[in-house]
Amino acid sequence: MTDKAHTVHRDTLEKHLASTLDINRFRDYCPNGMQIEGRAQVSTIVSGVTASQALLEAAVERGADLVLVHHGYFWRGEDARIVGTRQRRIKTLLAHELNLFAYHLPLDAHPVMGNNAQLGKRLGLSDEGRFGEQELGWLGHSSVRTVGELAAIVAQALGREPLVVGDPAQPVSTVAWCTGAAQNALSEAIAAGASVYLSGEISEPTVHLARETGVAYLACGHHATERYGVQALGEHLAQEFGIRHEFIDIDNPV
Ligand SMILES: [Zn+2]
Repeated sequence: MTDKAHTVHRDTLEKHLASTLDINRFRDYCPNGMQIEGRAQVSTIVSGVTASQALLEAAVERGADLVLVHHGYFWRGEDARIVGTRQRRIKTLLAHELNLFAYHLPLDAHPVMGNNAQLGKRLGLSDEGRFGEQELGWLGHSSVRTVGELAAIVAQALGREPLVVGDPAQPVSTVAWCTGAAQNALSEAIAAGASVYLSGEISEPTVHLARETGVAYLACGHHATERYGVQALGEHLAQEFGIRHEFIDIDNPV
């Protein structure tokens, strides 16, 4: 945290984020922007991957005015009732007049601050194009020669061993990646010419698809691959408006 103490109106932040992240370009499964309205003036932002109870309590402890996340609430098809864990989370936000701002696909996709951009940067991957639905997947190259070497870079950069499907000695040419639960984009990555595909999660059928097509799959962790976008976005807001920002990592093994 810095000790600057500027304040900015939450609506100014929301407007700025809507245009910076081009939110209307996406078909998403949740509302992007302000999901819970808190106090009008914001001087401290806490960011995190998911608006879990632990993150909210950490934000309250730090006297935050706004919680900025990648995984917010109100997902399509979700039970609409405000009961149980959902009630406790929303009650915490309302009781402390905390704003909740959430950005899902627009934050995956942003060319600089997005999860894919930030992951590619950390892994030393070049940015050479997009693939798949809504152009969410990224394509590029690595300076390493084999899948095993790429897996070692992932382990070092993310502090977590990836699950590798494929031969570590396999050569790496075009690399495709999409953070989070993007296992279903594997077939599109293959169609785009990938030799290796990196995502957060992997599913039983995608293991077979990877084996049968000879494309290596590195499952690098949903949380681990999506830690960096929201952090970059929070830092951007701190710079732009002179407000405080702190990223809080609530560990998640998946
Ligand atoms: Zn995600």
